[in-house]
Amino acid sequence: MKNGIISIVIPSYNEAENVRLIYDALIEEFDAFQYNCEILYVNDGSSDNTLYEMKELSRIDRRVKYISFSRNFGKEPAILAGLQHASGEAVIVMDADLQHPTYLLKDFIYGYEEGFDQVVAQRNRKGDSPFRSYLSSMYYRFINKAVEVDLRDGVGDFRLLSRKAVEALLKLNEGNRFSKGLFCWIGFEQKTIYYENVERKNGTTKWSIRNLFNYGIDGVVSFNNRPLRVCFYAGIFILLLSIFYIMFAFVKILQDGISVPGYFTIISAVLFLGGIQLLSLGVIGEYIGRIYYETKKRPHYLINEANTVYEEKNEKNKL
Ligand code: UDP
Ligand code: MG
Repeated sequence: MKNGIISIVIPSYNEAENVRLIYDALIEEFDAFQYNCEILYVNDGSSDNTLYEMKELSRIDRRVKYISFSRNFGKEPAILAGLQHASGEAVIVMDADLQHPTYLLKDFIYGYEEGFDQVVAQRNRKGDSPFRSYLSSMYYRFINKAVEVDLRDGVGDFRLLSRKAVEALLKLNEGNRFSKGLFCWIGFEQKTIYYENVERKNGTTKWSIRNLFNYGIDGVVSFNNRPLRVCFYAGIFILLLSIFYIMFAFVKILQDGISVPGYFTIISAVLFLGGIQLLSLGVIGEYIGRIYYETKKRPHYLINEANTVYEEKNEKNKL
């Protein structure tokens, strides 16, 4: 489907000051392209004037579309809604906070015309706090051992997806969406472009350290069952170790008879095994929790209002 339209999906949560700024920046870029644009804002239950700003823009410019959720569902559902409603032959996902520079659009489109199905922007970590950069680099080192998709530091949702890639993503209908992983999982020809990190202009980031930790756990658990396997191996290892110890202790008893002192050995064994068991239960619990949410099959989001023509397609998600 080549319709000459490129859709820009912008998840926005309390970004009132940025809605217009990003619109201006995008329109300016698109003047130079032979493509038309469709700017698709997804208002993720903002409590400020974000929706109002979007409506104002859509009134003066028909290329502006908006979808507004009934409450805050999170960035992942917002991206999903954008991908489902985008009508362009290619879709660009970018943040509302101007941290994703619009001058990269021409590289995106150039990559798309070269035939790549995903053109991915990778940022460096300039301006991030050293603590945060350190945590993320550790995290990526760890996660790439733990999951089979190749996740790279500095690569996020900021990318262009061809229609083929979008349709592939929409086929994955899991409830708990870890986009970074899903983007890698679908594969297709990828091109990477590099850019210098930009700091946020208006508003504040919605990520706390706690969110980041949770996101990190999501990354590991939503992609494979390797943690379960680690528990299994740890279990086997400890079992073998205990068997050896029991044999050793038994032989000793046969030789020397039973000696009473043994507090240290007993308490170490109890604590160590208790710890391993709790940890394993925790890991299993994580997976069961996910199964619980997946079996509910709740919609990813609910739309309160929207002006997209594709709204009917998603009637079941509408209130
Ligand atoms: N966002 C969203 N829903 C949320 C949190 C964030 O749609 O619950 C949007 C936000 O408006 C922004 C983008 O996701 O456009 C990235 O958020 P943020 O800038 O807070 O994250 P960071 O750039 O620090 O990773
Ligand atoms: Mg940001």
